[in-house]
Amino acid sequence: METETTAQELDFMRLAYQQAELARAEGEVPVGAVVVKDGVLIASGYNRPIGKHDPTAHAEIMALRAAAEILGNYRLPGCELYVTLEPCIMCSGAMMHARLTRVIFGASDPKTGAAGSVMDIFAQDNLNHHTEVRGGVLADECSALLKSFFADRRLAATEKRRNLANSLTESLSESDKRN
Ligand SMILES: [Zn+2]
Repeated sequence: METETTAQELDFMRLAYQQAELARAEGEVPVGAVVVKDGVLIASGYNRPIGKHDPTAHAEIMALRAAAEILGNYRLPGCELYVTLEPCIMCSGAMMHARLTRVIFGASDPKTGAAGSVMDIFAQDNLNHHTEVRGGVLADECSALLKSFFADRRLAATEKRRNLANSLTESLSESDKRN
């Protein structure tokens, strides 16, 4: 049975949310993550595959890399990772390689979520390491941030098409005048 979300879990998810806002400010899909050890924040990261020209630059990977660098260890036992969106297959795999104790995510991802939505890698008994998972922490806020990002992006795309159509019409009527 799911236990109540603790105040500490909410606090760390809010920090992950702030990271997601940094991603958004750079025009990246707003997902943020933080790594916590013994109740202390040790590293953070946000989604930036476009800016870094790196398909693996998801928030979780950025945060795991930073945490491993800080601890001087490629394994992160005793660490927890908070991320605003359900992790994908790649990130879930990386978390297991890191021997994370627990992952806490915000919104579910029905398209690529590997912690219960599309599949549940964490429930695979035949994998040798088990990372605990908890979803739905600050889910509404995390999901609203993503939704407003995509809505803005659609709006911008519509605007762009409209401007293109307008300038096309203008140049056509210009050439009409000349004929
Ligand atoms: Zn990922």
